[in-house]
Amino acid sequence: MYQHILQDSPAPLTPGKVVCVGRNYAAHARELNNPVPAEPLLFLKPSTSLVPFGPAIVIPVDHGSVHHELEIALLIGQPLRLATEAECTAAIAGVGLALDLTLREVQDRLKTASHPWEIAKAFDGSCPVSPFLPPDALPGLTALHFALHRNGQPAQQGDTADMLTPIPALLAFMSRHFTLLPGDVVLTGTPAGVGPLEPGDHLLATLNDQLRCETIVTA
Ligand code: ZN
Repeated sequence: MYQHILQDSPAPLTPGKVVCVGRNYAAHARELNNPVPAEPLLFLKPSTSLVPFGPAIVIPVDHGSVHHELEIALLIGQPLRLATEAECTAAIAGVGLALDLTLREVQDRLKTASHPWEIAKAFDGSCPVSPFLPPDALPGLTALHFALHRNGQPAQQGDTADMLTPIPALLAFMSRHFTLLPGDVVLTGTPAGVGPLEPGDHLLATLNDQLRCETIVTA
């Protein structure tokens, strides 16, 4: 059973929904030939999508390719509804990393048909999450650098300074549509470099010098 980990200990927060944003980095929107949206493009993953980042993750193998999208993940510690940016910043209990696993061909097919894309994004285990660090252990929400290595090769890297909608404004926007509850997770969008995973892959994800997570992809 998945449990949030905050600074090496289980956090007393029940894992809830995952609120995600698509196309929050212009370079990633371009690599998938998507227009940059005028306002944040939100979607949800259920609590059943949450799994630990390591030591291994399981991917579906019979629905086409599964892409990695490495993202900054936020653990919500206080309820947020119609919240100000300051209230949102104060409600962040932890900062970590997550993979927004995506069945890319399934998503493309659904997008082309103008259908909802949940089965491509919200399946069981589609959100591996690292342990979280308290925000004050990190240099600040606009100074986060994160990277993914796949089998020793650089795959993705991002800087929160490049987000189209910065974290406080993103949380405030989300809170106008969905009440965020303690234990919910927010994914903040993926930078460029997404690509398919294969069983046997080794993944290394890092956040500044403070967080280092490894996992093996299994079928
Ligand atoms: Zn994503």
